[in-house]
Amino acid sequence: MTRTRAADHTGGQLHNGLAARFEEAFGTVPDGVWQAPGRVNLIGEHTDYNEGFVLPFAIDKTAKVAIRLRDDSTVRLLSTYGEQGVVEADLAELTPGSGKGWSKYPLGVAWALQQRNITVPGFELLLDSDVPLGAGLSSSHAIECAVISALNELTGAGLAAEDMVLATQQGENGFVGAPTGIMDQSASLRGSKGKAVFLDCRDQSVQLVPFDAEAAGLVLLVIDTKVSHSHADGGYASRRASCELGARLMGVPALRDLAVEQLDDAARVLDDVTFRRVRHVVTENARVLETVEQLAAGGAGSIGGLLDASHVSMRDDFEISCPELDLAVDTARTNGAIGARMTGGGFGGSAIALTPAGLEQQVRDAVERSFAEAGYTAPDIFTVTPAAGASRLA
Ligand code: ADP
Ligand code: MG
Repeated sequence: MTRTRAADHTGGQLHNGLAARFEEAFGTVPDGVWQAPGRVNLIGEHTDYNEGFVLPFAIDKTAKVAIRLRDDSTVRLLSTYGEQGVVEADLAELTPGSGKGWSKYPLGVAWALQQRNITVPGFELLLDSDVPLGAGLSSSHAIECAVISALNELTGAGLAAEDMVLATQQGENGFVGAPTGIMDQSASLRGSKGKAVFLDCRDQSVQLVPFDAEAAGLVLLVIDTKVSHSHADGGYASRRASCELGARLMGVPALRDLAVEQLDDAARVLDDVTFRRVRHVVTENARVLETVEQLAAGGAGSIGGLLDASHVSMRDDFEISCPELDLAVDTARTNGAIGARMTGGGFGGSAIALTPAGLEQQVRDAVERSFAEAGYTAPDIFTVTPAAGASRLA
């Protein structure tokens, strides 16, 4: 079954506007306003939980939160998106799985801070985000990272960015109930303008790598297919299980420890499906390293082939693409993109296409036309650039 998401939210507000709206909603001024960006993953898909390498960057679309701490343990949450109204919860009664709707993300952050013996008082929060929901750009992590940045400062907890990354992961895993890694929060909390975040998911070390598409005469297009196939959750779990099985049978702690040269051995030891899952992860890790080298040596114009190879690997070996993503990638490539791939967990969400600036319109038109001809929902197409990580705005 294929679900088409509701129209995207485009009502981004200036942060001073957000403070005024906070006052309107809660009858009091906020203590401050924080922002945290969504992210796009340039390359390195399903390598994070294999203790491998990823290369995401923070994008110029952000979640902004205005917050005021309270004297009691009540939390009151309001978003400019949707019509849910104010959601209330009590921080003294948080239990894993108890968060409803989008409240589970800010509550998961508060819960994770509590697990670290940090006292979190109740708070009022107004959220305004222009990160599209469910497009694979991590709108949920943008919320978490904005909230943890705010609470970290307002409570005086003083956590370093690396600790905030781990705390939001704990909130996701332990409270929200999503078995996610550290890539998205690392990009949102540790990203920097003009840079991609080269992250080693084993030791959390980060190297900021210049990614300047404009200097190479390129733009990075995001093609949000607006679809999310219903087998995504099961697909993610089964891919993780295959990777764990592959590592166990190959006698390594994680697939990160398997070199491309060992794939011939792996082909003899593993069944066909497990082997292809393993081959994706091992070659994808190598492609991340190669992309970092190519960016340094030749700039953004030299990584097109790596993006293409990543897509083929996800389509054929990891089998997490879908017809809409394949059509977006193929159409972008045949109309002038120098490289394109699906990005994010798969089974829907977005593709990225590195495109000569002069061909941007041609690629956009061609993708829109091909989707219409296939009878698919019209995609949302926009450019992204590497932006700064989470920060206080007011
Ligand atoms: P992704 O993180 O890839 O965008 P997810 O399914 O993980 O997709 O997160 C989407 C969820 O995040 C939404 O279902 C909603 O609960 C929450 N969310 C994101 N943005 C907003 C917003 N502006 N207002 C309220 N909830 C939001
Ligand atoms: Mg998410």
